[in-house]
Amino acid sequence: MPSFVCKDLGMDCPFTASAPTEAELEKKIAEHARKAHNLNPDKDMWMKIKTVIK
Ligand SMILES: [Zn+2]
Repeated sequence: MPSFVCKDLGMDCPFTASAPTEAELEKKIAEHARKAHNLNPDKDMWMKIKTVIK
């Protein structure tokens, strides 16, 4: 199951998420980014996010 740890992006943030598919995980990450960090990941950000998805 793909998982994401916000700290891996260099954020001082305890958020972790996992989902059955990478697409669903990306939805959760996008929502978290908006709510917790007030940002909308752009293309470069997504490339960085994908490198830390395990
Ligand atoms: Zn975060």
